[in-house]
Amino acid sequence: MINWFFHHRFYIARRMTQTLILLAYFGSNYFGWNTIVGNLSTALVFGTIPLSDPFSTLQMFFAGAVITVDIMMGVGVVVFFYSVIGGRFFCSWVCPINIVTETATWVRNILPFNTVDVCSPLPQSTRTWMIIISFVLSYIFSLAAYEMINPIGIAHRGIIFGFGMGWVLLLAIFLFDLFSQEYAWCGHICPVGKFNALLGKYSLIKVVHDKDKCVNSLECFKACPEVQILNMVGHKSATITGSSCLKCARCIEVCETGAFEFSVVGITKQLRDDK
Ligand code: SF4
Ligand code: SF4
Repeated sequence: MINWFFHHRFYIARRMTQTLILLAYFGSNYFGWNTIVGNLSTALVFGTIPLSDPFSTLQMFFAGAVITVDIMMGVGVVVFFYSVIGGRFFCSWVCPINIVTETATWVRNILPFNTVDVCSPLPQSTRTWMIIISFVLSYIFSLAAYEMINPIGIAHRGIIFGFGMGWVLLLAIFLFDLFSQEYAWCGHICPVGKFNALLGKYSLIKVVHDKDKCVNSLECFKACPEVQILNMVGHKSATITGSSCLKCARCIEVCETGAFEFSVVGITKQLRDDK
């Protein structure tokens, strides 16, 4: 039992963080707590610290909306946070959709058809195109285009105010991940994760790999949702510099020999390891 907790320590911490954040929003809306008021696009923490999602703010900008000083300060706080800890930290520690897609992956891995994909693999570049299309549509229609269908906002509102038909979209993402290809939504479509990844490319907190401890079991490859960033495994000790790293710590949890760990890594070393 203790062994199970140790091997899932980051998973438990991530789920607790996601739940506590949702609880804080819920309490603010229903009981008037002054913890975090707003939503996952723009919020105020303890009545003083503004938070604004950079991707939705840029959509608003392209839509022609006035970006207030408060929103700009909120963007600044979030960008600073992503520069230190990593943009995709949001994905695995905050975003409620991560719970849906990781559950789909888990179900997929225990079902007999786990290697059968019903459609051709989507290219990684789809996420970048989603960002560009979101900005272009925001400009054309004068509204924050992706926010109209953003499942993160729909899930967040659903958990706090009740789902309505929003659960259909979440079920669609779950089935999409289950049947189309592993990690389909977050790894190939969601523009929010990609945009945050770009902001946190040189974040200071990184996962590092120690080749001397690696026994080539390749358990990390089975666990990591973004395997393309593990290209150094078994070859060299290096920082995982790929911006797609979610800081989910699955590699740390599954590696029996402790070849991965979180570390603070300066930009110079990251640039060196990137080669
Ligand atoms: S990729 Fe998008 S939907 Fe998936 S966890 Fe990240 S922000 Fe959420
Ligand atoms: S490298 Fe590790 S922390 Fe990064 S996404 Fe893969 S499993 Fe998660």
